[in-house]
Amino acid sequence: MSTYHTPLDLVRERSPERPVALVRPDAVSVAARWFQSEFKGDVFYAVKANPSPWVIRELVDAGVRSFDVASVAEIELVAEHAPGSRMAFMHPVKSRRAISAAYFDHGVRTFSFDTHEELAKIIDSTGQAKDLNLIVRMGVQAEGAAYSLSGKFGVDLHNAPSLLLAARRSTQDLMGVSFHVGSQCMRPTAYQAAMAQASRALVRAGVLADVVDVGGGFPSIYPGMVPPDLSEYLAAIDRGFAEMMVHETTQLWCEPGRALCAEASSLLVKVELKKGDALYLNDGSYGSLFDAAHMKWPFPVKLYRKNGPSGGEVVEEGLKPFRFYGPTCDSVDHMPGPFWLPESVDEGDYIEIGMLGAYGVAMSTRFNGFGETDTVEVQDAPMASMYGLAKRSIPVVRTEAEERKVVRFSRPKGAAGKRKRRR
Ligand SMILES: *Cc1c(COP(=O)(O)O)cnc(C)c1O
Repeated sequence: MSTYHTPLDLVRERSPERPVALVRPDAVSVAARWFQSEFKGDVFYAVKANPSPWVIRELVDAGVRSFDVASVAEIELVAEHAPGSRMAFMHPVKSRRAISAAYFDHGVRTFSFDTHEELAKIIDSTGQAKDLNLIVRMGVQAEGAAYSLSGKFGVDLHNAPSLLLAARRSTQDLMGVSFHVGSQCMRPTAYQAAMAQASRALVRAGVLADVVDVGGGFPSIYPGMVPPDLSEYLAAIDRGFAEMMVHETTQLWCEPGRALCAEASSLLVKVELKKGDALYLNDGSYGSLFDAAHMKWPFPVKLYRKNGPSGGEVVEEGLKPFRFYGPTCDSVDHMPGPFWLPESVDEGDYIEIGMLGAYGVAMSTRFNGFGETDTVEVQDAPMASMYGLAKRSIPVVRTEAEERKVVRFSRPKGAAGKRKRRR
């Protein structure tokens, strides 16, 4: 991987024709070290957030030895780039062949499930193994996440006790509970509330858990979504854990994805055409901009220009809102933004779209002949950081309508700690 001091150096030296993923490995390292030292338990990296080998290697260098995987391909990836590490197969629905391969070929011992049928599959496909760590995935009612993850997976409170009991009886090793409060969770108390729900199910089942896995959901910063400090999330988890009925050796686990890699990549795209407030780019929703298109997330942007008197990073007063179109012929290849850029932006300019390290490059397809992306390392700071690598909040200009749209993600102003509940 070649290295440039800044994205502007890359623009000046190479005028890249294809989209370029700009990676900042240090950002992964700083995030991983923070979690490793502050979280009072084991940190499993959720590989799906960004399966790039450089991310895995950076995590290993930072001391991460546990990985949350969801497929055989992810297992093979971790086995290759983080040999000897511990893997947890946390997808609640797996093929029998995937379970066997995980257990017999890769030494995976930890499996999650949310039905009796899946538990039976796990036991069958591992040859009635007795050394399994069996983690019951619970569906929890959680507020404050930008993406809900409870619709598809998770046993409800009513059916959880019998599944917990069955899990307890099926293993001589660890039995645990897990949940996912939803990705980009804006409320630390969501974890505490989810832990209370898990605790209730355990009490009803009359069993004690050996593992309490609080899942992922830890946030990063995006325009209009500036979360509380990460330490508030860990404090809420501490409070939740203290209130649970557990035994002395019960382990606490977490599975951050986004929070470990969001800051560590951005994307450099080229403007191919300007049509009013629409900019046609060389990457889009079938490339690294899935969330910008389908979730309408307004990612932070910077403008670079190679030539002319205004060459360099273009910083002008009076930014204007733009929307983006990707290179494919599909009309869903549209990123509404708004992305605030200098009015002078034009064909041939380059735009850096920040904070795409999680669920960005990982989503890229080759639809319509586009999507091929180069990767280079850059040494400047990410556009925003939860870990003090950059100015923490992103300065963004927003219209009033935008303010109204995003306000539900931010904390009400006024007395700290007094948070209004919203439905
Ligand atoms: C996606 C996922 C994660 C990671 O979620 P983030 O919101 O990126 O932290 C963790 N655990 C499971 C089971 C997941 O499916």
